[in-house]
Amino acid sequence: MMEEQDFENLSLSQPLLSQSSFIELWDNIKLIPLISQLMNDQALAERFDENLFELPPEVPSRDGVTPPASTVPVTSDYPGEYGFQLRFQKSGTAKSVTSTFSEQLNKLYCQLAKTSPVEVLVSKELPADAVIRATAVYKKTEHVAEVVRRCPHHQNEDAAEHRSHLIRVEGSQRAQYFEDTHTKRQSVTVPYEPPQLGSEMTTILLSFMCNSSCMGGMNRRPILTILTLETPEGLVLGRRCFEVRVCACPGRDRKTEEANSDKMQNGTKQTKKRKSAPTPDTTSVKKSKSASSAEEEDKEVFVLHVHGRENYEMLKKINDGLKLLTKESKTKTKVSVKQEFALPSSGKKLLQRGERSDSD
Ligand SMILES: [Zn+2]
Repeated sequence: MMEEQDFENLSLSQPLLSQSSFIELWDNIKLIPLISQLMNDQALAERFDENLFELPPEVPSRDGVTPPASTVPVTSDYPGEYGFQLRFQKSGTAKSVTSTFSEQLNKLYCQLAKTSPVEVLVSKELPADAVIRATAVYKKTEHVAEVVRRCPHHQNEDAAEHRSHLIRVEGSQRAQYFEDTHTKRQSVTVPYEPPQLGSEMTTILLSFMCNSSCMGGMNRRPILTILTLETPEGLVLGRRCFEVRVCACPGRDRKTEEANSDKMQNGTKQTKKRKSAPTPDTTSVKKSKSASSAEEEDKEVFVLHVHGRENYEMLKKINDGLKLLTKESKTKTKVSVKQEFALPSSGKKLLQRGERSDSD
């Protein structure tokens, strides 16, 4: 009863404000911090991108105890002072290929249990007994907390001691399989071997023991593989990360996904790259930004040529922010119209409508 009373009071008092001018004022106020925040974010990203979250593993732990693994593994590339790099053989996208890497998507496509050679490069001599560790993690935020394991079906038909591990290192008797006692995350290590005479890199052989589509396992959720270069004590010296899809037709899937990615990026690339002699191409601009209902009402589209990727990214952010605000203010305007018309009948209903639009 009390609640209803309050609702009524609120909704009655609302028309006393001039709603359209309030919205205008509100948007202007909101816009200033938004833009400055966007600029700051950009500046922050530039300054701290590299090593902000790297610090804990770099600090030497007391008496050589392995530092505890972070609950959510870090997936940013970090060449470190040894210039840790990965290279993949160019296998192309033929139908018969069992493992192929897309530079464009930073993604490995391979068949179940087939060997994928990964070349490891460092720029200077590593500490003795350095190891390479491979860990799998779900790519999407909503899945990242879950540990990546093999599906029950594939585990059951395997007698190996490490049968629950998705990633295996082949061709080395010295591969060791780990499961972190706290996070339960699984990983495999292999001692780093310096390149053979006349070679500049070392090759490790990885295989993935489930399909990405395996029910009860990855279940179509994309994964990342993290390769870390570590001291025997577990200090991270470098890190590299790539996506993995385990599937029946790696060549075909790579081709398809690269083409899709080309299509998706086409609009933005066209507007960005065309520096001289442009033919106005409004469709590419519209396609590249997700079309909102608000945008459909703004028929006029302008093409802006921007020099430098950083400037482009910053302007794009601002543009996205502006679009969001336009969308929001349009929703609010509609609601306010409804409220004014419907006011005499029921206060409670009115406010619910207003509430919903505020939250989206
Ligand atoms: Zn499986």
